[in-house]
Amino acid sequence: MSFDVHKIREDFPILQEKVYGNPLVYLDNGATTQKPMPVIACINDFHRHSNSSIHRGVHYLSEQATEAYEQARITVQEFIRAKHSHEIIFTSGTTASINGVAFSFGERFVHAGDEIIITEMEHHANIVPWQMLCERKNARLKVIPFNDEGILQVDKLEELIQDKTRLIAVMHASNTLATLNPVKQIISLAHRYNIPVLVDGAQSVPHMSVDVQDMDCDFFAFSGHKMYGPTGIGILYGKEKWLDDIPPFQGGGDMVDVVTFEKTTYNQLPYKFEAGTSNYVGAVGLGKAVEYLVTAGINDVADHEHDLLQYAVGRLDNLGYVTLYGRAPQKTSLVTFTLRDIHPYDAGMILDKMGIAVRTGTHCAQPVMRHYGIDGNIRASFAMYNTREEIDALIEGIQKVKTMFGG
Ligand code: PLP
Repeated sequence: MSFDVHKIREDFPILQEKVYGNPLVYLDNGATTQKPMPVIACINDFHRHSNSSIHRGVHYLSEQATEAYEQARITVQEFIRAKHSHEIIFTSGTTASINGVAFSFGERFVHAGDEIIITEMEHHANIVPWQMLCERKNARLKVIPFNDEGILQVDKLEELIQDKTRLIAVMHASNTLATLNPVKQIISLAHRYNIPVLVDGAQSVPHMSVDVQDMDCDFFAFSGHKMYGPTGIGILYGKEKWLDDIPPFQGGGDMVDVVTFEKTTYNQLPYKFEAGTSNYVGAVGLGKAVEYLVTAGINDVADHEHDLLQYAVGRLDNLGYVTLYGRAPQKTSLVTFTLRDIHPYDAGMILDKMGIAVRTGTHCAQPVMRHYGIDGNIRASFAMYNTREEIDALIEGIQKVKTMFGG
């Protein structure tokens, strides 16, 4: 097998850290991933040798920085197989990308009485911006439910679609249920009614190969920090025709063509959507992270993580006192669960003392927790550098938690 997890681990210096004297077992990758040396070195080198504001200067450093920034855009374009590099907009992350579309698309196309459809399993980042839009425009939010297995009830979508439906926003992979939603099916149904679809790819892009043209989504959003890149950088992909049609979401330098006090005309794509000094260092770092994923082999990464998922589910199920949330047949690599009679926070704090980093709480998806009548759960989310041994450590940790609480 070409994928060598032990070799991969050597690239991530933080994995050598000790936590309270124990080896770090980092299972909070759904929140953010650790960074490999090539990404760390690239950011360092950029600051040492190439730093300068992009697009503005004719001097050597500015040209170097601009070239690196635009090359990162092409790297991302090729990674998600967008048709044009100007369909790739650098933002600060998934949240900014979705807010940007909600604002700009909303300004242009959403009016009083119109409707937006989302799903019950969305992250708050794909709920609240649409709610804010609906409040601004006096529009209405509708929700596709999921069943107790964590499977989206796509058969309910057609009855939710009305003449007044303006956009559907759906997550590709769930950050709480791990469900991989049938986005192609949703998009093809939506397009039959000429409704555009935004896909939140924050939890899919790091774990599987994504082809936005094949998917045929109209907008696609994701974050650099969840895919081994830096924080504060992310992507909004939009089909050219939509990006041409909607107004910019921020005004300022770089996004303009001619500015007078009477009227301003906007720059061409993608710059129309990149106002101000962009996070060019982050963009270059993200480009390096994409290269890292490509070199590791995104399909090998997916296979490795699928193995971890299966292994973790099997071991958790065997314990007998664990409730798992999300049993969809197609899943990405995370598990969320509760332990009978033990509060998630208590479990999380004790696991932490053993060096095991898991997430506890609502994971920014309160409606999902409400669906199951719980106020939170525990999440272990896997990345390419995790191992079966780390899952064994998690299980051992859970057993200790159970013993401490008298089980
Ligand atoms: N969407 C999903 C599915 C997520 O899991 C997250 C982060 O956890 C976000 C959106 C928001 O990402 P960011 O905080 O990087 O903007």
